[in-house]
Amino acid sequence: MNVFIVLAHAEPRSFNGALFQTAHDTLRAAGHAVMVSDLYAMKFDPVSDRRNFTTVKNPDYFKQQIEEMHATEVGGFAPDVEAELRKLEACDLMVWQFPLWWFGLPGILKGWADRVFAMGRTYGGERFYENGVFKGKRALLSVTTGGPEAVYQKGGWNGDIHAILRPIQRGILRFTGWNVLRPNLVYAPVRISDEERQASLNAWAERLRNIESEKSFDVGEY
Ligand SMILES: Cc1cc2nc3c(=O)[nH]c(=O)nc-3n(C[C@H](O)[C@H](O)[C@H](O)COP(=O)(O)OP(=O)(O)OC[C@H]3O[C@@H](n4cnc5c(N)ncnc54)[C@H](O)[C@@H]3O)c2cc1C
Repeated sequence: MNVFIVLAHAEPRSFNGALFQTAHDTLRAAGHAVMVSDLYAMKFDPVSDRRNFTTVKNPDYFKQQIEEMHATEVGGFAPDVEAELRKLEACDLMVWQFPLWWFGLPGILKGWADRVFAMGRTYGGERFYENGVFKGKRALLSVTTGGPEAVYQKGGWNGDIHAILRPIQRGILRFTGWNVLRPNLVYAPVRISDEERQASLNAWAERLRNIESEKSFDVGEY
């Protein structure tokens, strides 16, 4: 497989860094080709505006989706966006490695999605959900939290983690056609022992060794 891993953590020695390195090394060792976007290391610019484009459809009024459709037609995406689009298009499996921030994506990863998941190129026309542009490809979120598992249950203190991830898994990934795999969740890596952290890295590696045969996960509805 061609695998694309996106990392959103500013500290390479963080637990997110360790999960990322584990995925990278395990998938490479299993014979897969691995592409990477380490967003902080790349200093990826997450601000979405005219900088997304080398072309201009309407110079008087900026409407992002109009410019995206035009850039799709004429090849007008800025080089940093175009490079990411090509990784999306080239991969069979995409993994996003990130810490949960305010019940969502860290800004740098949200901005990456805002800029890269462009209308025309990644969705639009009749191409949504089952008929989405990325139909047949698979995507997986690998997420760490500050809170322990007990607070991320339905009806619990913070609520169901799958409901929290639904805007990402349904609103971005399923919407554009990806088959979503069950998320890799590591709760509160700060609060657990070194042995427990090592065990979760081992479990992640073990899962990735067999990822090719894994079935999709139902991301649920609202
Ligand atoms: C802006 C912001 C918003 C947030 N919002 C939320 C929220 O909504 N909900 C929530 O639950 N949390 C939230 N948090 C907390 C955040 O999700 C956690 O701090 C984060 O997930 C922890 O992951 P980390 O990689 O940063 O951990 P780290 O602190 O980097 O790592 C934890 C421990 O793992 C150790 N470690 C690193 N590598 C290894 C290795 N190879 N083997 C064993 N141990 C290792 C580290 O030394 C450290 O002791 C938020 C934090 C911020 C800054």
